[in-house]
Amino acid sequence: MNKNLGTTGLILNEPLLWEKGSKGRTGFSVPESDVDASPLDSELVGDGPDFPDLSEVDVVRHYTRLSTWNFGVDTGMYPLGSCTMKYNPKTNERQARLPGFAGAHPLLPPQLAQGALELMYKLERYLDEVTGMQATSLQPAAGAHGELAGMLLIYAYHKHRGDQRSKIIIPDTAHGTNPASAALCGYRPVPVKSNENGVLSVETIEAVMDAETAGIMVTNPNTIGLFEDHIREICRVIHDKGGLVYCDGANMNAIMGIVDMNEIGIDVLHLNLHKTFSTPHGGGGPGSGPVCVNDKLEPFLPVPRIVEKDGQYNLSEDFPRSIGKLDTFHGHFGVMIKAYSYIMSMGAAGLKKASQLSVLNANYIKERLKSTYHLPHDRPCMHEVVFNDQNLQAYKITTLDVAKRLMDYGFHPPTVYFPLVVPGAIMIEPTETECKQDIDRFIEAMQQIAQEAKEDPELLKSAPHRSKVRRLDETTAARKPCLAN
Ligand SMILES: *Cc1c(COP(=O)(O)O)cnc(C)c1O
Repeated sequence: MNKNLGTTGLILNEPLLWEKGSKGRTGFSVPESDVDASPLDSELVGDGPDFPDLSEVDVVRHYTRLSTWNFGVDTGMYPLGSCTMKYNPKTNERQARLPGFAGAHPLLPPQLAQGALELMYKLERYLDEVTGMQATSLQPAAGAHGELAGMLLIYAYHKHRGDQRSKIIIPDTAHGTNPASAALCGYRPVPVKSNENGVLSVETIEAVMDAETAGIMVTNPNTIGLFEDHIREICRVIHDKGGLVYCDGANMNAIMGIVDMNEIGIDVLHLNLHKTFSTPHGGGGPGSGPVCVNDKLEPFLPVPRIVEKDGQYNLSEDFPRSIGKLDTFHGHFGVMIKAYSYIMSMGAAGLKKASQLSVLNANYIKERLKSTYHLPHDRPCMHEVVFNDQNLQAYKITTLDVAKRLMDYGFHPPTVYFPLVVPGAIMIEPTETECKQDIDRFIEAMQQIAQEAKEDPELLKSAPHRSKVRRLDETTAARKPCLAN
């Protein structure tokens, strides 16, 4: 067996609970009853539902085995580009479970929810500071919801000035949710191409920006992991024609405490607390996508807003230009507690260091793998690096084969075939929480796979070999999921 093999090994099969156990087996033993059974009981309950008869060990093994069929950041490295699958310290989970927070009802009046409101108020101020922006709203319930909130703010701003506009510029390196959010808000997305360096040129933006355009939605660092180095100039071009700049800040993990978003000309951005600020995600939620704005957009933020006076926290609807309410209550409070706890435990210097290490780790992988895998943009990257399968085409090996084979080495595959601007993309985001030894193991696995592509391409074509299921028909798996085994 290869020394690189990580978390694979025992693959445990598991039947349904109904197929396990046998009649009369129980999970507990109590002294025999010396009281006659009450006829009332049997009338009400009858024979009871058809539950299988199981012992405690049957049940514990069943659920523990099922849990090993999954892969998470607590199992191993999960370099899924664009998703920031970093390890989430358990202390943050613990704070979110404190009974006073976990049991707080969202309809509690402010005087009975001072601690919760204070936490939210302070988290907003910390996020103002991390981004350099003037004000934050925690209401949006995910990244894409934050984007929609940002679009609604830009719409309200133009409307208030009696200057209705119909278009939004969206670069080809934006996240796929961006055009959807703009369209939901009634804007027509205007796609623009990045240059040969993978970033936007000022001239490209100058050529499309006009008085009909409400602004631009730019992802920075962009989805190929590069910092938009002409961002200040681009913001100036947009502002000169009366537009606003929206930044998709879901990639903040690369630039915390390093880039001042207000200073570079951003008017509004959203953050993904569930990516950058320590909430386990990937199973579909819950998330939190706060919007942070400058002084131009502050009057339009969603209500109710949390206000502070003499150490007392309150909810206020008294913002006449607000776009209104975006959430039934206040957003996903559990995620906010974890973000607050994460920020408090890291401190300003710690957050900056996390970003620096996430960038260092990605660049280390880039430098060590670029002689093996084709690197379309050979320049310093931010938190993630994008290769493709060009060097493997001679052996008829594709990105998908590499991703599947990585599972045999005990790693979650990187993001594949995204972003679309790089055909056959393999997007790797190691994050700051991986140590050098684990990153080295990952690099060695990738190198070994490239070697296998030359020597034994069939091995890759039929991978994975050491997982619960082999290569699935992904269309059928999505349309007709088989949930029983
Ligand atoms: C993840 C991500 C989003 C979408 O966030 P959700 O919380 O999944 O809605 C948007 N933009 C970028 C750059 C992202 O990485």
